[in-house]
Amino acid sequence: STTLLWFRRDLRLGDHPALLAAHDAAGPDGDVLPVFVFDDRLYGPSGEPRRRFLLDCLSALDEDLDGALVLRSGNPADVLPALVREVGATSVHISADAGPYGRRRDAAVEQALGDVPLARTGSPYLVTPGRVTKRDGSPFQVFSPFARAWREHGWRAPAHFPDGARWRTGVRSDDPPPAPELRGVVLPPAGERAGLAAWARFRDERLLGYAEGRNLPGTDGTSRLSAYLKYGCVHPRTLLADLAAQDDGGEAVRRYTDELAWRDFYADVLWHRPESAREYLKPELQGMGYDSGPDAEALVRAWETGRTGFPLVDAGMRQLLGEAYVHNRVRMIVASFLVKDLHQEWTRGARYFMQHLVDGDLASNQHGWQWVAGTGTDASPYYRVFNPITQGKKFDPDGTYVKRWVPELRDLDAEHVHEPWTAPGGIPAGYPEPVVDHAHERQVSLDRYARVRAG
Ligand code: FAD
Repeated sequence: STTLLWFRRDLRLGDHPALLAAHDAAGPDGDVLPVFVFDDRLYGPSGEPRRRFLLDCLSALDEDLDGALVLRSGNPADVLPALVREVGATSVHISADAGPYGRRRDAAVEQALGDVPLARTGSPYLVTPGRVTKRDGSPFQVFSPFARAWREHGWRAPAHFPDGARWRTGVRSDDPPPAPELRGVVLPPAGERAGLAAWARFRDERLLGYAEGRNLPGTDGTSRLSAYLKYGCVHPRTLLADLAAQDDGGEAVRRYTDELAWRDFYADVLWHRPESAREYLKPELQGMGYDSGPDAEALVRAWETGRTGFPLVDAGMRQLLGEAYVHNRVRMIVASFLVKDLHQEWTRGARYFMQHLVDGDLASNQHGWQWVAGTGTDASPYYRVFNPITQGKKFDPDGTYVKRWVPELRDLDAEHVHEPWTAPGGIPAGYPEPVVDHAHERQVSLDRYARVRAG
């Protein structure tokens, strides 16, 4: 028989349990029809870098499928039952989605398919969201105990590629939507082979220095795998299986595993509390005061365009516009600046990030923002305000990162690059003065925080 493999955030052929399940269900004489559905509810609102990367991933996947990938457009709850009837498919196979929209959509598709089963096998995560709980069955609210339980739970071995897999061919495909033109944004090469190659380079050249290098935005210290993980060009299980096969790398491997645990943790939080994509995890901070009006808007515009006069913040925001990516430490610093120096609600920054990031992911992004804003899963008992100057001196000591993204500051030495207003010749031409006084805004933020906590 024919079975459908409905691709979503799993745009690869290797280590793909749902593909294996579709193949097994088709039987030795059957075939599998691979399909991707452009769902307007998801595709339309995605930022341009993500749309472009997705289209490129689909082209790469189609190439690996020898041209068998079928594209359809519309509401999956209409499109899939119609396709099932068209080809006489006996089952539809997916990797489970953990996000609020994806879960609703899959339930609607399941219902619309009637007697034809929708089989969920695997998920984009090491441990399927919702599986790791406290002993009493309640969800974890804090990362460290989650990560401990998550490691104890463990994950399955990578899935092999099915022997004798056959793809159904000759089925009509819709044209993909037009690719957005990216003006001046350089994206990584898309698809499974590119993702695995990026991984191999990181593993062989940079993994050993990861524990320290991951915090230094001026070095190429991290894996840059987030967009591949987001679209499932690579599964995290494949990466950890590969690391388990290395004889050495102790601390680096532990740190890298921890970062993948954060990804699973945030997906787990979103699974248990789907409303946390918009609402504060700490509702007591819901009444926090924010700034509005023309002056506040001008400051937000300075943040968006990398013209705040704070070098590390500006470098980060310009990296966002140049590569649709920002180094993790710098994401924390620019997010803190928007919320705690410019007094904007985290949801606004999260929206801007989702528009511009190629790895934009609802769980990691919204909860990354909530963590920085102090409304989320941060376990620390105090209100953390990042200082962009001391962070710059500590994590970009020679200013390599700042100078890469802020050419106006290229001639400053390490001593002045994070405080250009202290340079002997003054602020270099073309670079703005700081738009706010950090010490003052920090205090404003702390006061508002104290007020809202006091009720
Ligand atoms: P590496 O250091 O090589 O880490 C490997 C992988 O672990 C990453 O690819 C990612 O999948 C995962 N990971 C690492 N750090 C985190 C983290 N803090 N939270 C969740 N997963 C993590 N990550 C996204 O994938 N999409 C987002 O939209 C996103 N938005 C963020 C917004 C804010 C405000 C903050 C503070 C962080 C956000 N992150 C997001 C997490 C993190 O910044 C990126 O995953 C990381 O920078 C990607 O670079 P890398 O692949 O080189 O990371």
